[in-house]
Amino acid sequence: MERTAVPRWLLETVRKAKRPENVTVYKDTSNEVTAHRLNTVCEEARCPNRGDCFSRGSATFMILGDVCTRNCRFCAVKNGHPLPVDREEPLRIKRAAQKMGLRHVVVTSVTRDDLADGGAEHFASVIRELRTLPGAPTVEVLVPDFKGYHEALNLVLESKPEVFAHNVEMVPRLYREVRPGAVYERSLDVLAAAQKESRPGTVTKSGFMLGLGETEAEVLALLEDLRDAGVALLTIGQYLAPSWRHYPVARYVTPEEFADWEKEAYKMGFLGVASGPLVRSSYQAGYYYRKVTGR
Ligand code: SF4
Ligand code: SF4
Repeated sequence: MERTAVPRWLLETVRKAKRPENVTVYKDTSNEVTAHRLNTVCEEARCPNRGDCFSRGSATFMILGDVCTRNCRFCAVKNGHPLPVDREEPLRIKRAAQKMGLRHVVVTSVTRDDLADGGAEHFASVIRELRTLPGAPTVEVLVPDFKGYHEALNLVLESKPEVFAHNVEMVPRLYREVRPGAVYERSLDVLAAAQKESRPGTVTKSGFMLGLGETEAEVLALLEDLRDAGVALLTIGQYLAPSWRHYPVARYVTPEEFADWEKEAYKMGFLGVASGPLVRSSYQAGYYYRKVTGR
């Protein structure tokens, strides 16, 4: 399939975001991650915002290994047979978060369909460790769908993360082709159940990408579904293919169109919306959390 050329303005935006603003802080962030033998989604998913985020001392930890049991065609994370769960990882996350002085800790994972609870207990264990830190950083978890098991979901919710996030990633029509293994309705159910069963103080969040071939009507319907599922925080970003082997980009969406979707989403009732070409689920996550909660 023919590839759509990346517009110059976007190449320039990506180039700026990749370049470390503060090389010392960038290296410190990278060194802490390595020293604590942790993975970040920033590196594994080849996020274009690394220069920006690492230079501000922030990163998103990726737990449960760096090998995913699913194989989404848009994703740069390796897939295959993961290693057993590393029970010491929650403690190392806590130590790294403390050394990095994180006020808002974002934790995500690969999907672990090989585990009975999908890794939910491990998520809960990370949250519990972070709760013991002085200064009580807020915690945001971006979880897989746990195959829709509410018991697994509840394990995470019981540990009371401040933000419970699960991404729908794209409009439902594209799931079969781009996200085999995921089910749109199941993801919506995860979000709705999290909203319903969440403890006071937990807000729900989701995100999706544009540029995969979706229509305007499909995006509007997706926004309605997320709003009806009780999602409060929303992120919308441009899909960037990690390599020529990944699913091709259908279209590069302009910053103006992202701004229009942001306005539309606020009009529909979302409390916090980040929408822009390089917006990712964890981009300035602490800022958006504080913005909607005032905490
Ligand atoms: Fe990491 Fe998220 Fe920043 Fe990307 S946007 S570099 S994944 S913290
Ligand atoms: Fe990537 Fe998540 Fe899909 Fe795994 S389930 S391939 S980590 S998007």
